Amino acid sequence: TRILGIEGTAWAASAAVYDAETDDVFIESDAYQPDSGGIHPREAAEHMHDAIPQVVETALEHARATHDGPADEPPVDAVAFSRGPGLGPCLRIVGTAARALSQSLSVALVGVNHMVAHLEIGRHSADFTDPVCLNASGANAHLLAYRNGRYRVLGETMDTGVGNAIDKFTRYVGWTHPGGPKVEQAATEGEYVDLPYVVKGMDFSFSGIMSAAKQAYDDGTPVEDVCYSLQENVFGMLTEVSERALSLTGSDELVLGGGVGQNARLREMLEEMCDQRGAAFCAPEPRFLRDNAGMIAVLGAKMYDAGETLALEESHVDPNFRPDQVPVTWRTRREG
Ligand code: ATP
Repeated sequence: TRILGIEGTAWAASAAVYDAETDDVFIESDAYQPDSGGIHPREAAEHMHDAIPQVVETALEHARATHDGPADEPPVDAVAFSRGPGLGPCLRIVGTAARALSQSLSVALVGVNHMVAHLEIGRHSADFTDPVCLNASGANAHLLAYRNGRYRVLGETMDTGVGNAIDKFTRYVGWTHPGGPKVEQAATEGEYVDLPYVVKGMDFSFSGIMSAAKQAYDDGTPVEDVCYSLQENVFGMLTEVSERALSLTGSDELVLGGGVGQNARLREMLEEMCDQRGAAFCAPEPRFLRDNAGMIAVLGAKMYDAGETLALEESHVDPNFRPDQVPVTWRTRREG
């Protein structure tokens, strides 16, 4: 199976080709970089509009160059695209591009949930059977595990996503987007100061800690100390709930997904927690953690093989598409 994937939920205009036989993933991405502030939905959509044709063309060229079938055969079996969750104006551009491409190539269309793709690329990379997944991305933060045909949300943020929370603090101190890597860098020079830590059962909240971080900064606490403490508390919260999710499900596998998963301190905390309870931990390579079309193409291939294709008239996008809305039909019986 060969799939052309297109991603465009927020900042990454990305296209990929996945070949299931060789497991090769080719990715071409073009990132939107705001001049100031955070992601502006209208500007992000303009970027999508400008960048999608080129990344798709590059991926298509790769698909054609590596296709060894007859020349009149399409170079891929299907086009997969991110249906949501994400910014509506961006999603609509990607949906339109995917529909047009599937029509012009005369191949099937597969609609992929972006958060399930973040999870599945980890499961695929690790070759895990039944992991718990921590999705730590810009606009989301949740724990997922499979049960009775769906990925269930075991715990989630009660307010903003984890990356967005960090980016709000860095915007406040005047650093450019994205803030996560800058906080990680500054934290290496910092010491712990007290900040809120909010876990309620399986859910967690970032709004209190973000206000307190801004307040501490205004009160003259060195920004390095605020960054260090932010990371310790925010990632500590995510690690605590991940451990509880492993304990609840009895799973001994944890995968990490999403752009914040590129953070070395978060990975270290999760790894240590997993080590202590004898669980296996896997974070996919960075190109599969941040938004990318590779993960859309890989899950697209699994869905295509399971017969999960979309008719044109039901291929609308959904900015609020939740992972537990997706019937999971592509896992083998052995996996349960
Ligand atoms: P979603 O997948 O929920 O739609 P998204 O589209 O914002 O999220 P991602 O690529 O998953 O995108 O994540 C981007 C986020 O990752 C940004 O908020 C950025 O600050 C954060 N990030 C990137 N690198 C790091 C890092 N090293 N440490 C912490 N956060 C990071």
